[in-house]
Amino acid sequence: MEQLWGGIGAVFGSWNGKRAMEYRRIEKIPDEWGTAVNVQAMVFGNMGDDCATGVAFTRNPGNGDNHFYGEYLVNAQGEDVVAGIRTPAPINDFSKNNQSKHLTSLASLMPELYNELDGYQKRLEIHYKDMQDIEFTIEKGTLYMLQCRVGKRNGIAAVKMAMDMYNEGLIDKDTAVMRVSPNQLVELLLPLLDPETEKMSPVIATGLPAGPGGAKGIIVFDSEKAISYAEKNVPVILVREETSPEDVDGMHASKAILTTKGGMTSHAALVARGWGKCCIVGCNDIEINTLSNTMYAKNGLVLHEGDWITLNGTTGRVYEGALPLVSVDMEANMPYQELMKMVEEIKVLDVRANVETPEDALQALKFGATGVGLFRTEHMFYGEKSEEPLFLMRKMIVSRTEEERRSVLKDLFMYVKKDIRRTLEVMAGHPVTIRLLDPPLHEFVPHDKLKLESLAKELGIRVSTLKKRVLALHENNPMLGHRGVRLGISYPEITEMQVQAILEAASELTDNGKKVFPEIMIPVTCTVNELKHQKALVNKVYDEVLAKTGKDKIEYAFGTMIEIPRAALRADNMALEAEFFSFGTNDLTQMSFGFSRDDIGGFLPNYLDKKILRVDPFTTIDQQGVGELIKIGIERGRSTRPDLEVGICGEHGGDPESVKFCHRIGMNYVSCSPFRVPIARLAAAQAVIEGK
Ligand code: PEP
Ligand code: MG
Repeated sequence: MEQLWGGIGAVFGSWNGKRAMEYRRIEKIPDEWGTAVNVQAMVFGNMGDDCATGVAFTRNPGNGDNHFYGEYLVNAQGEDVVAGIRTPAPINDFSKNNQSKHLTSLASLMPELYNELDGYQKRLEIHYKDMQDIEFTIEKGTLYMLQCRVGKRNGIAAVKMAMDMYNEGLIDKDTAVMRVSPNQLVELLLPLLDPETEKMSPVIATGLPAGPGGAKGIIVFDSEKAISYAEKNVPVILVREETSPEDVDGMHASKAILTTKGGMTSHAALVARGWGKCCIVGCNDIEINTLSNTMYAKNGLVLHEGDWITLNGTTGRVYEGALPLVSVDMEANMPYQELMKMVEEIKVLDVRANVETPEDALQALKFGATGVGLFRTEHMFYGEKSEEPLFLMRKMIVSRTEEERRSVLKDLFMYVKKDIRRTLEVMAGHPVTIRLLDPPLHEFVPHDKLKLESLAKELGIRVSTLKKRVLALHENNPMLGHRGVRLGISYPEITEMQVQAILEAASELTDNGKKVFPEIMIPVTCTVNELKHQKALVNKVYDEVLAKTGKDKIEYAFGTMIEIPRAALRADNMALEAEFFSFGTNDLTQMSFGFSRDDIGGFLPNYLDKKILRVDPFTTIDQQGVGELIKIGIERGRSTRPDLEVGICGEHGGDPESVKFCHRIGMNYVSCSPFRVPIARLAAAQAVIEGK
């Protein structure tokens, strides 16, 4: 009895083991569920050489191949197989690996028992209609089945098994689509850390998993170094406290980005995700010393510029050294292509992409996007290639009079038009939502001495004068400051220039036989009067462009982002002017919770540990709060404009749980970074099936 109670206690106790808790956190399994204990008679696999024990899967959990796959040990107990003390032997030829290929398989050693086992595994899979993880023991020549359960599998295997089982007639279409977890698709799109090596490597720091996949490279602490190493084909990981638009080139040149501050919608996270790049943010286990070019990790580990590290952006873990990566070719993956065909037939929601360049747009099309839900116009001013437009932008910002500003805007116009035209062209046949300038102006002005000096020289003013103008732009809380539509209200000429660029680009492409659908989107609005003000400008420019081009019509739509709680509450009024709403849930979450999206990394881990919050609200929509505002926004918006088109373009647009929510509340589309498009498409199809 003592042993029995000890055993039962151990099983219940395992629920609160560190690994089990970590696993539940990743899989979002509630702690309250608890576990069960089965009490059953023992059989013994360790009573001699006519005994054995093993673990097997009805299909290969690593690649999905439809072959019975497993390992066993002669004269052993179950723990010996899983604990890795002895090298287990393969149950058949399909199960051989490098370490076990010289060992005798169960099929050769005990052919009759193997055949009996093979018969059971086939029956179990047909019964449960899913891949089973089986444990068995042979006691003195008798085979006993100990347990079976649905087997864990990686993303590649999940897709293959789902499609194979569908084609074998074992499961129906809906079941096949439900079998793959959307996040598992990431494994088909991005390189991953080799799981075996990762298991054996110590974690040196943990942060927020902002951009999934794996990456390895040498540490650099500034963007210029990242670029110069990358030019020599040296893989680098950019390690920073946080990143800013000036780091964009360095970030692009890097294999991955690691920041010690910031949250899931911080600059680094957003940019990295857009490129499908591995990224860990808010990693406060690490401290950077930029003077000595070193970083301090857990346990006093000191790493220098040039040292190798490896990141697992899916879990937020950082490792010392260069760990091996594995990758898969998605295009050649037929089961994936078949699965996505089914997804298309089932889903109702459209999936668009947030893109910044024509290259991103192409990538998004490849992943199955049916439009652009967010084109952030400001991207063109970031990075080295943007020297000229950025200079003009800066010149415009420090202009003192409307006249000065208008003259610079004239020069800037050409660049803006070219930029918009290229993306509209790639996306011909699909809608492209172009958002007017959003960030506060001070983000564009340089702060370092050399750049200030050269800008002053170019502008023909003194550095001290320039500094004064820059200082005047300073805001205590720029996220709530002079940004978004407020810029267009203070400086209508900025809106006018952008609208002219959009309409002229559209007109020219139409002349070339392209069907383009630009949607002009006004950001950070809170009252319909802002929309009225901006719409008047759009109408004025529209008439001017018609007169200039001799056309009687250019197709476009006018709409707004809903990112301020007041805008959601006043949606009935907003929809009087807006033909579409796009919920900017990054800002909407920030303003609903009052959590700064750039600083949440400082306290979020505590909130999650202490279960104050279940998940990061910047990753998964808070359905009860922010979600309620969205529902109200849609309802009220459609009460005055029944055909109002509604989408979401915050980072949540690529999060499966949030995508399903968007489907349930009747949105028309979600928009996310190109690399999350397949994930959102699958989630959208699953939402339909779940709703049946
Ligand atoms: C948002 O706020 O959700 C959004 C998409 O805009 P940005 O992230 O550029 O502020
Ligand atoms: Mg926003």
